[in-house]
Amino acid sequence: MATAANLEDQIRTIDPAEERAFMDAIDRWMEREVIPVIQHHDHNDLWPEKLVDQMAEMGLFGATIGQEYGGLGLPATTYAKIVMRISSHWMAITGIFNSHLIMAAAVERFGTPEQKMKWLPKFASGEIRGGLALTEPNAGTDLQAIRTVAVKDGDDYVINGTKTWISNALNGQCFAMLVKTDPNADPRYKGMSLFIADKRDGLTTGKKFDKLGYKAIDSAELIMEDYRIPADQLIGGVEGQGFFQATGGLELGRINVAARGVGLAEGSLRLATEYAQQRETMGKPIAQHQAIQLKLGEMVTRARAARLLTLDASEAYDSGERCDFEAGMAKYFASEAAVENSQEAMRVFGGYSYSKEYDIERYYRDSMLMCIGEGTNEMQRMIIAKQHLRANPV
Ligand SMILES: Cc1cc2nc3c(=O)[nH]c(=O)nc-3n(C[C@H](O)[C@H](O)[C@H](O)COP(=O)(O)OP(=O)(O)OC[C@H]3O[C@@H](n4cnc5c(N)ncnc54)[C@H](O)[C@@H]3O)c2cc1C
Repeated sequence: MATAANLEDQIRTIDPAEERAFMDAIDRWMEREVIPVIQHHDHNDLWPEKLVDQMAEMGLFGATIGQEYGGLGLPATTYAKIVMRISSHWMAITGIFNSHLIMAAAVERFGTPEQKMKWLPKFASGEIRGGLALTEPNAGTDLQAIRTVAVKDGDDYVINGTKTWISNALNGQCFAMLVKTDPNADPRYKGMSLFIADKRDGLTTGKKFDKLGYKAIDSAELIMEDYRIPADQLIGGVEGQGFFQATGGLELGRINVAARGVGLAEGSLRLATEYAQQRETMGKPIAQHQAIQLKLGEMVTRARAARLLTLDASEAYDSGERCDFEAGMAKYFASEAAVENSQEAMRVFGGYSYSKEYDIERYYRDSMLMCIGEGTNEMQRMIIAKQHLRANPV
């Protein structure tokens, strides 16, 4: 298991000028390559192959992977700023490299030296891309109820079961997959293990979901039927660690979802601010009406608060400390900010908000997912409260 001390060794600080240069490169890429094709890909639910190749060239598939493995080794703070910037225009494409990086983080934090050397360089270059396979038809929040089972057979494990709602399932090649190695363990989490599950015989994809939003990135089932993989793909090499390895990776995942929420909240604000100054009623721009100003005042404050909470959580992560409290608050607040700001922006746009010619309807469709993924906001609030109560006993 990674300790706070060896996590600190892995953390790289970044020079502000280097960060600025990276953000400028992201801005140029968004302007030239991404923004012109968003509507086409979103409305037709098309996988953005060319953009994925460009993401690999920019190093995004190795953004948080250590430099010794060919990654950029960016601190979580810089990573969060990149995700905010991209999501303020198009949240969905950040999912293509985010769930991939959560898989990579599990290998980097908990894998054996051999696993890191074998897999991380290929993850960092984007040669092998993938995601996180936790959820099953009967178990999302209650992860300990999963039914996928891995049975040791000589030098291999044989896995049977079904995963659902897996991001990048169709277009990815490899997944950090949570299974039961001891279905009878008590407590249940002690019987759970995490595998590096690459596509090969026995692992097929099932139904692709037709979603409300979060288009272009695929969400589908993974089906394991006598799927046989070498035992050295058990992350860390020891059974029974999977639940903590999977949920440990969720800290970075929550920071990422928070950053996506910030991007959606800020993007909705930007669109509403522009529109409110162009659209006129009663002889003046609607931005001059107090009803619209009340909305803009709330939206700008909410977006700012979400950004600050997210940067606070990222800094805690970069310091090497456990930060599930901070990451949970950021994820909860920023995702709700995304929903509220996109709804308010819809009202500012009036009837035009309902036309697919305008971008705001996409923000509205995409934002609700932020309240569900990486731990629902109901669970977030309960976890935040429990930690708060533990820290404040009477
Ligand atoms: C677009 C999309 C992409 C996704 N990508 C991935 C992915 O890449 N990998 C992956 O593994 N999963 C993925 N998921 C699945 C996602 O993580 C789950 O949907 C999420 O964890 C919620 O689980 P559930 O849908 O089973 O809801 P449930 O667990 O059935 O929850 C239903 C409701 O009950 C509430 N609830 C549940 N238990 C409690 C409790 N104990 N106390 C109070 N309230 C409770 C929940 O908050 C929620 O409101 C994705 C989902 C979507 C929609």
